[in-house]
Amino acid sequence: MKKTDKTKICFRNDDVNILTPELKNLTEIFLYRKVPITHAVEPGNVTADTISWLRQTKKKYPALLEIVQHGWDHTPHGKGEFDKSRSYNEQFNDLKRGKEKLENIFGENFFSMITIPFGVYNKDTIKAASKLSYKVFCGHYNYRISRRLFYLTGRIMRKGRLLNRHVSNHLRYYPGTRLFEIDSAISFSKKYFGHFTNDCEMSSADEMFQAFENYRKITPAVIFLLHHRFHHKKHDMELVETVLDKLKRRNDIEFTNYNKLYQMFK
Ligand SMILES: [Zn+2]
Repeated sequence: MKKTDKTKICFRNDDVNILTPELKNLTEIFLYRKVPITHAVEPGNVTADTISWLRQTKKKYPALLEIVQHGWDHTPHGKGEFDKSRSYNEQFNDLKRGKEKLENIFGENFFSMITIPFGVYNKDTIKAASKLSYKVFCGHYNYRISRRLFYLTGRIMRKGRLLNRHVSNHLRYYPGTRLFEIDSAISFSKKYFGHFTNDCEMSSADEMFQAFENYRKITPAVIFLLHHRFHHKKHDMELVETVLDKLKRRNDIEFTNYNKLYQMFK
């Protein structure tokens, strides 16, 4: 099997703000196994402790830690931080101050990628993200045939949104922009109990591997999504270890990060 035939896998952890044991422990699980992890940082909420820990970790493990932007401060306005109730200027200003802050703090170590809190965005968000020249935009990708037909329809129409829903352009440019899209596929969280709780219903390892097999038939790159705050129980940490260890035993996959995927597929 050629290296290029291997399914690329990337792990993203969202909602990085304060420095908690969960954030450090989850990161350790990846670093210990030499598996890259991408932390999506909330620029408006990230604390000095977290910044210095991210800097130190990045310095020690440059290839294993990636730092990207998650909105501005994760405040829900309407349905999400970038809800349609917010004007273009409001959205632009929040993205801009977030990007500038992370660039100032992390310099070259910030990868210019935006992931939008709550998955809620509209055409003004895209216009703002495009104007700010992010390299990568993240949405969500679903392997179900009904969704793929919907995406296909959207792509033929050159639309990033259709019927007010995201059209996945995974590993393609978001229509009408230079934003390269890399969509997440498999979430460790199966069911959320509100946005501000520290509990959720987790997917099982078997469920995630079943989904993984479905995704890898249709895409060369599969993105796993985590939220460290949900991994505060031993069992939920072990779930991450189980998934990583099981993946590590395979020779048909390759761990990577967003920047490398961008370079590979853009
Ligand atoms: Zn979030």
